[in-house]
Amino acid sequence: MNLIFEKSIENHRCTILPKTDIADYKIDDSYLRKTKVKLPEIAEVDLVRHYTNLSKKTFGVDNGFYPLGSCTMKYNPKVNDSCAALRGFSEISPNSDEEDVQGALEVIWESDRSLCEITGMDKMVFQPGAGAHAEFTSLLMIKKYFHTKGDLNRTKIIIPDSAHGTNPASASMNGFNVISIESKNGIIDLEKLDQVLDESVAALMLTNPNTLGLYDKGILEITKKVHACGALCYYDGANLNAIMGICKPGAMGFDCIHLNLHKTFSTPHGGGGPGVGALGCKSFLMDFLPTPIVIKENESFKFYKPVNSINKVTAFYGNFLVLVRALSYLKHLGSNGIREASENAVLNANYMKAKLSKTFNEPFSGYCMHEFVLDLSSFKEGYGIRALDVCKRMLDFKMHPPTMYFPLIVHEALMFEPTETEGKHTLDKAIEVLEKIVNEIKSGNLDLTQAPFTTEYSRMDEVKAARNPIIRYGN
Ligand SMILES: *Cc1c(COP(=O)(O)O)cnc(C)c1O
Repeated sequence: MNLIFEKSIENHRCTILPKTDIADYKIDDSYLRKTKVKLPEIAEVDLVRHYTNLSKKTFGVDNGFYPLGSCTMKYNPKVNDSCAALRGFSEISPNSDEEDVQGALEVIWESDRSLCEITGMDKMVFQPGAGAHAEFTSLLMIKKYFHTKGDLNRTKIIIPDSAHGTNPASASMNGFNVISIESKNGIIDLEKLDQVLDESVAALMLTNPNTLGLYDKGILEITKKVHACGALCYYDGANLNAIMGICKPGAMGFDCIHLNLHKTFSTPHGGGGPGVGALGCKSFLMDFLPTPIVIKENESFKFYKPVNSINKVTAFYGNFLVLVRALSYLKHLGSNGIREASENAVLNANYMKAKLSKTFNEPFSGYCMHEFVLDLSSFKEGYGIRALDVCKRMLDFKMHPPTMYFPLIVHEALMFEPTETEGKHTLDKAIEVLEKIVNEIKSGNLDLTQAPFTTEYSRMDEVKAARNPIIRYGN
């Protein structure tokens, strides 16, 4: 497909500008361009066709099944976008005075209250633009908390080996030493935890249910042990889809937390667009929160800077419209609906897991939470077909592949997260497709190392695309 620049035809236009009623103004020659600006010149119909055709070449949640694990690619109801597009929200300036944007401040306040209710935290702020950004910000707070107490020797962060890669990255970027502990049957090994806990530990970072979709039933004992040595517990709640309205990280013993509003709370993601890593904490950490936070005083809302604030971590207030979508989602579902969403997410994952266990090897049997992992190493050993090849073949059936090769502790891993928004007919279709692919592997009639066969491009050089992307046209 040609680029918009290549479709440019001299003097083709989209708009007819009205005649100006301002007198001509002669700009000094020294300010004028010497060469013509390189913008595409195109008629409206060609412009519309260009972008419509382009949009058909990509694949998103609105196109079909998208079970990317640890990502929560749920369908986002369009009503939440409509709320975010309301002029009162989308056209306000971040420089407005507090009195003029009380409604916007109320959105921040109400989101804070609702998400605190869901997580068992005391205060929630929304400046960080991603989950990783919120992790980094929380660790800054934890560091300042200990320094303020005069406790300067806590230099370690404990992270289980099933963790999302952003956890060790955030800890390391904050100057902490990362202590990785090996999991046992997919969850925390209490003996291993005991071995590394001492007064040099600042915090444990944990996801529960973890990236294997397993709920750690020893959670109360884990957080108790961490607290006993004076360290804090951080909850990576990027995917809260399994437990919303059912149990609270605050009650599990966590001191601070982040939620990805762009995963669980209805902002579309995947293209690197605006997100919010909502950061929550218990009251004893509130003084360290990034500024500004919103407080309510005599029925009105105002910005406030916490005493020991780590200061600003983003411009203005973060991605405010993401918050409008989240609040709209929460209000539409209500507390019963939120719980039902989680129950259905867990039900859908277990339905798929149970059906697929007949065809695939499960590294962890029994019930899962919102996601589950399959181990395809027997196909690699028996037929030379890797998890990657199965993912590529799924594209021919117009399905987005699951997450692959993650978590690292399962070889040839495929990690599915169907989410609550898929109907049984879609799950059945996906199961049928996966069974069909396994039959293809066993029959050997089709060389799956060459799949996909029906897409515009087949196998791309993904390493090159990631390391040396060409994202600029021409020079
Ligand atoms: C997605 C995810 C993150 C990182 O969130 P970003 O918004 O991509 O930075 C962290 N932890 C877990 C468990 C995740 O799934």
